[in-house]
Amino acid sequence: MAYKKETQCIHGGYAPSEGAPQVMPLTQSTTYRYYNSDFVGKLFDLEAEGHMYSRISNPTVEATEKKINTLEGGVGALCVSSGQAATTTALINICEPGDHVIAACNVYGGTYNLLGTTFQKFGITVDFVDPNNSSEIILAAAKPTTKAIFAESLSNPSTNVLDFEKFSALSKALEVPLIVDNTLATPYLCRPLDHGAHIVTHSTTKFLDGHATSVGGCIIDGGTFKWTQEKYPKLVEPDPSYHGVSYTERFKEAAYIVKARTHLLRDLGMTMSPFNAYMVHHAMETLHVRMDRHCDNAQAVAEFLEAHAKIDWVKYPGLKSSPDYELAQKYIPKAGGVLSFGVKGGRDAAAVFIDNLKLCSLVVHVGDLRTSVLHPASMTHRQMSAEALATAGVAPEMIRCSVGLENINDILEDLTQALQEV
Ligand code: PLP
Repeated sequence: MAYKKETQCIHGGYAPSEGAPQVMPLTQSTTYRYYNSDFVGKLFDLEAEGHMYSRISNPTVEATEKKINTLEGGVGALCVSSGQAATTTALINICEPGDHVIAACNVYGGTYNLLGTTFQKFGITVDFVDPNNSSEIILAAAKPTTKAIFAESLSNPSTNVLDFEKFSALSKALEVPLIVDNTLATPYLCRPLDHGAHIVTHSTTKFLDGHATSVGGCIIDGGTFKWTQEKYPKLVEPDPSYHGVSYTERFKEAAYIVKARTHLLRDLGMTMSPFNAYMVHHAMETLHVRMDRHCDNAQAVAEFLEAHAKIDWVKYPGLKSSPDYELAQKYIPKAGGVLSFGVKGGRDAAAVFIDNLKLCSLVVHVGDLRTSVLHPASMTHRQMSAEALATAGVAPEMIRCSVGLENINDILEDLTQALQEV
């Protein structure tokens, strides 16, 4: 029986057998004991299933992968050491030097640097496109070597909602997978695979963990993309490092995610630690309850700020005044826990406001149960040029607020007193 998502948050990924621990245990072991050398040989040849070494898989990490995969509706998931590792792995699993990626220009600043700078060093070029542009303009960025389209379901920090219908049509037209970073929305608020995405990535560090304890990432394979030998030979042709296995032939619709683990995780080692997986798994048991409260509190903060005389503008897709309101109603009706706004008086006023907050914390983070603010232009996005900041939707005065789970009146009181100082 397919349970509803609230039940999947609690029970997904771990089903205790008779007399087993009710709570998913932490298996803090690097390795696994075997008594049959033939069987271990089969593990190495990918002919048998089992844990062999925790760089590649571990029972606790596996339970977390299964929970996230169940919620996202994929055919398989792979947890990695960070959100950055998830983006990197998701793309280099299908891109070779000489290949090209189309990415939305409003992606998280760290992703922008990773794709725009570090990927260039790997020989993979990236064109950033404005997701609001027409399909014709976006398609003009494509090359014969384009291998993927990358975008965020709910962008950080500009909180734009992805037009899935448009991006899914673009991916079909180019015959490349649509990879969607679903970090800010979480699978509780939005399931990109239901809207035409082929691969989903996460920084589990954010709302999935939700308690600011554990850096991590995850990749989920929807299993629907048809990998062709012409475009994605490494998925189809025999892999000499596994005695000639063809991923598509052996693992069918799970070819992509099996290759990401057995090839990239084995060789590059960006493994999620079992302890972090344990923390994320337990935190996700309350994801649905937390996300509902994050969304309610963020909606209330957005409405409060919109009506405040010292606020210049507020961006939150749950506001009727938002240009993304219609898209949010379609894809992310509970519009998430993150919003941005500008205090009248620009960058200096933003600093005064932030420095006078008492309850809300100045931290480089989103998705925590404590209300968190930061100033993207001087912090997360400070490597970006003024032009890149503008195209990413990051105004110099922008304050990003990740609304936490405190009592809403306490949050509003803190914002009120800090605004009085501006
Ligand atoms: N993707 C998004 C949307 C993010 O907000 C972040 C981090 O803020 C990342 C990816 C990178 O994740 P991590 O910090 O876990 O590497």
